[in-house]
Amino acid sequence: MSSQHSRPPKTPFADTLERELIALLGRDSVLTSEADLRAYDCDAYAPEKRFPDAVVLPTTTGQVAQIVRLCNKLNVPFTPRGAGTGLSGGATAIEGGVILSLIRMNQILEADIPNRRMVAQAGCVNVYLTKAVKNDKLHYAPDPSSQGACTVGGNVAENSGGPHTLKYGVTTNHVTGVTMVLPDGEIMKLGGKVEDVCGYDLVGIIVGSEGTMGIVTEVTIRLTPLPQSVRTLLAVFETVDQATQTVSDIIASGAVPAALELIDTFIIKACEDAFHLGFPMDAEAVLIIEVDGLEVGLEEEAETVRAIAEKNGAREVRQAATELERALLWKARKQAFGALGRLGKSMVTHDGVIPRTRLPEVLREVRAIAQRHGLDVGNVFHAGDGNLHPNLMFDERDAEQIKNVLHAGEEILKLCVDVGGSVTGEHGIGIEKLEALTWQFSPEDLELMQKLKSVFNTSQLCNPGKVLPSAKRCWETEHGPKMVAAAGRGVAGRGAAV
Ligand SMILES: Cc1cc2nc3c(=O)[nH]c(=O)nc-3n(C[C@H](O)[C@H](O)[C@H](O)COP(=O)(O)OP(=O)(O)OC[C@H]3O[C@@H](n4cnc5c(N)ncnc54)[C@H](O)[C@@H]3O)c2cc1C
Repeated sequence: MSSQHSRPPKTPFADTLERELIALLGRDSVLTSEADLRAYDCDAYAPEKRFPDAVVLPTTTGQVAQIVRLCNKLNVPFTPRGAGTGLSGGATAIEGGVILSLIRMNQILEADIPNRRMVAQAGCVNVYLTKAVKNDKLHYAPDPSSQGACTVGGNVAENSGGPHTLKYGVTTNHVTGVTMVLPDGEIMKLGGKVEDVCGYDLVGIIVGSEGTMGIVTEVTIRLTPLPQSVRTLLAVFETVDQATQTVSDIIASGAVPAALELIDTFIIKACEDAFHLGFPMDAEAVLIIEVDGLEVGLEEEAETVRAIAEKNGAREVRQAATELERALLWKARKQAFGALGRLGKSMVTHDGVIPRTRLPEVLREVRAIAQRHGLDVGNVFHAGDGNLHPNLMFDERDAEQIKNVLHAGEEILKLCVDVGGSVTGEHGIGIEKLEALTWQFSPEDLELMQKLKSVFNTSQLCNPGKVLPSAKRCWETEHGPKMVAAAGRGVAGRGAAV
């Protein structure tokens, strides 16, 4: 579906829905005009779009519960949404209905410094969690590259990672409690501030459930001490193989860098054009390597990784001498997607995971796949985790290119599974990888997951058509890409054409 798609005809419930939502929240918190809804027709996964019938902007958990009860009464699907930076279509209302945007629920409710805990509303932007406690020498460790925009609720739903989760762990390791609205409108508190809660780990189930088990409204997070010292290095390579071999060797050496990120030549050039950071334009790949911890012994650790990079043919290894130099190195990594945005195309960012030892051959094959489909590809990824992010560039106004980008993505993900990896590391299944899940799990596994989801999501109205392959992708129609609902799993009847 191209970006030129228009709003589908109004559904029979649309007028009642709008009237009742306004009665609950007021006109300012309910968006229904075509222009407003267009901003919510997809998240950062662009190939598949769908207008919601309404977007609501609640400010309290009570309001979220009221909206959910109304949707149940009218049998209308609802989809939670944070900042919409998700890369697998999770926040796209693929069956229409209501998008519940948490973006106005952005307050930090409590910073409990002695207990190293913070309670924040789900719409709080990730980077503000750390900013709020920086003076106390604490931080919130999971740092997705989108941290300047994405919300902690979205992070919980996706179990997000980031450059520093190689050493510090992903979101699930840092969330100890949530308040949420269940899909029937009941308000539930799970976990809390304490370290271990007995009974089943329900917080662990909610983290990573991609908004299909309810709407998280408040999150209790762990605060982590800032490291005493940091060394940040940039290793420059003539070939991608040298860089990937370095990653493999660093991990094999037993060193645990805080971050180990690879940027390839396509991205280096885009970043240089955008930011003029002084990265070598003729390099095929660079690694950003960060080690942190106690000052004692840190220089030796930095020397160890430097030596490994040089042994693998690094032509230069720079070390940031000041906080400003460090910030500039990270700018290339964290703003890489912005730099790609300047190229004027759409992109699909893939998210496979592979054993780190297979990085050289898999990256070679990723490039070959993109070439076969006539697409440009740039790679920037958490190499230390074996977490690939090939960015496939395409023109979303061209149906042929959409088809190519989807097919190339499928080949890349199949490759990840074939080498013993996974179809997602941190961006989730969403709508993008519904079928890919069947390459990794047996029908029995998927049935068990469906049963678990149904315990929470009894009516299947909460974020339908996501995560489990109960909705089937069907691109090859005469009208171009399209999503159709598969019958028999509770989503049939509402339709799901994009
Ligand atoms: C430039 C860029 C860089 C990125 N870098 C990283 C990275 O380094 N690591 C990484 O892991 N991801 C990364 N991402 C992906 C994305 O930012 C994360 O998945 C992020 O957690 C999404 O947060 P969000 O607030 O934008 O959520 P949205 O995109 O709005 O929603 C994502 C999913 O969460 C659900 N959801 C949102 N809020 C709630 C809630 N309150 N309760 C229940 N469900 C909810 C939605 O229904 C949807 O399924 C990147 C994305 C971009 C665009």
